[in-house]
Amino acid sequence: MSNELFLFSFIDICGGLLSALLCIYAFFNIRHAPGGIFYILGTFCCSLFTFFYVFELNSQLLEHAKIWLRLEYLVLPFIPVFTLFMCMEYVGVKWNRHLYYFFFGLPLLTILVHYTNDFHHFYYKSMSMDTSGPFPVLSLEGGPWFYVHSFFLYACVLGSIVLLLAQFRKGRASRFKWQIATMTAGLFVPVLGSVLYLTGLSPNGIDLGPISMSISFIFHGAAIISLQMFSVAPIAREKVFDSMEEGVLVLNHNNIIVDFNPIMQQMVPKISRAIGKSINDILKDSQTLLGIISKGEKRDYKQETAYGDIHYQIKFTPVLHRSKHLGQIITFVDVTDRIRLQDQLKAIASIDGLTEAYNRTFFLQKTEELLDKGCLKSLSIIMFDVDYFKKVNDTFGHKAGDTILKQVVKLAKKHMRRSDIIGRYGGEEFIICLPDAFMQEAIVIAEAIRREIERTHVDVDGKEIKVTTSFGVASAAANDQKNSKLIASLMDEADMALYTAKNNGRNCVRSFEDPVVIH
Ligand code: GH3
Ligand code: MG
Ligand code: MG
Repeated sequence: MSNELFLFSFIDICGGLLSALLCIYAFFNIRHAPGGIFYILGTFCCSLFTFFYVFELNSQLLEHAKIWLRLEYLVLPFIPVFTLFMCMEYVGVKWNRHLYYFFFGLPLLTILVHYTNDFHHFYYKSMSMDTSGPFPVLSLEGGPWFYVHSFFLYACVLGSIVLLLAQFRKGRASRFKWQIATMTAGLFVPVLGSVLYLTGLSPNGIDLGPISMSISFIFHGAAIISLQMFSVAPIAREKVFDSMEEGVLVLNHNNIIVDFNPIMQQMVPKISRAIGKSINDILKDSQTLLGIISKGEKRDYKQETAYGDIHYQIKFTPVLHRSKHLGQIITFVDVTDRIRLQDQLKAIASIDGLTEAYNRTFFLQKTEELLDKGCLKSLSIIMFDVDYFKKVNDTFGHKAGDTILKQVVKLAKKHMRRSDIIGRYGGEEFIICLPDAFMQEAIVIAEAIRREIERTHVDVDGKEIKVTTSFGVASAAANDQKNSKLIASLMDEADMALYTAKNNGRNCVRSFEDPVVIH
């Protein structure tokens, strides 16, 4: 055996042993770590490949060398695939199952093409023994599939590097960054080995492929072990952060966006790609939200979307380090369901069960809200009461009385405008609020309701009952400063007008003569 052959064989045996030891160590220590199984498979294949390569190197005859080469190809095509999957699992990327078929299918096809090469020469155009050097070596001229396979191998390595670097950029925990860097460095070793080999810079022209692959697995192993030993917590935290149902936005003390989780991006799409930018710039078109954030007080925030309103509760947690204020964590909790339920409960609590008019409290609240908006020019109030209702009850019974009350409200609604609201003021007395209606318009509406009720027969158990109603109307120019006082005074006036109507023979509309303006 020549000295060169001995040296080459020795180096490769060392590489093979190294891979085998890493494989055994990984099997007992890191098989449950992220990427652990693919690491074991990778080192196992790498070790076999290197040993087969030693036998190929020591073959004198083409036939013998071809046997070892075929054995090498049983494992070689899978090594980059295992490396890629190891990296994916390491950084927590999940892929579609069909891609797995592709990544295992292509190496299987390569093995098939390689094994049947003698029939089609699609993998190697020619195979011979080169005896010009100190010892005979296989001389191979690649065919089309050889280049497909080479491209695939490099694509896997490149894909792994891209995957790791993308995670490196995203990585929030600095310790995890070091592990990713170690993993990436491991991928560059075989690339460097093949560059040195191809440029003729490797010592004695040795193929550095097998040994560089073994060395690369030292880096990968170190990254996996350290991930398993130290970094479960930051990664777990990152996972929790990414999978939280609450949107989380982190700002530094200068209100610069430092981080956010994926759900936050869905809640406020404007913040995508906003890391490093000021929240004031990003939300300059959303002044309400910006206002809440700058005040830093826990509050609800309504976002109008094409699919309806979404309600968020926004909470603030200061980030302090040794009593220095570093920034704040802003949490967005989706409380839409709760708000909707509250609204439903409020609606149930606000409506009079018999007539479906608002109850008195809610009517007053609604009227005040209308005035609070500050855009009303005037407001009118109609109060009406069923005439001689006690007699109706006494004659036809309480149930018939109930049916009539329901009907009266229904008839009143027919003549009300969309913006008007009706409330049950007491027993058989109702109140209507007419925003932006002056006295004359309110009188016209009241008169229309009166006539409608007067001419309508209510059918109760086959009996046709007719009732009449008396109306009092009051009106005023809206003055947004004393809304509650304005409403109270209008109600008093409408009540007085109603009293006049009752005294004037009932079944009529009376207005409170002089509209009041409260200053
Ligand atoms: P007036 O023309 O002066 O208004 O005479 P009235 O009989 O309508 O007035 P009064 O206040 O004496 O009687 C009102 C009656 O309304 C007494 C009460 O039993 C009846 N009432 C109040 N609430 C209800 C109700 O929910 N259902 C029924 N059926 N009757 C009610
Ligand atoms: Mg009455
Ligand atoms: Mg009454």
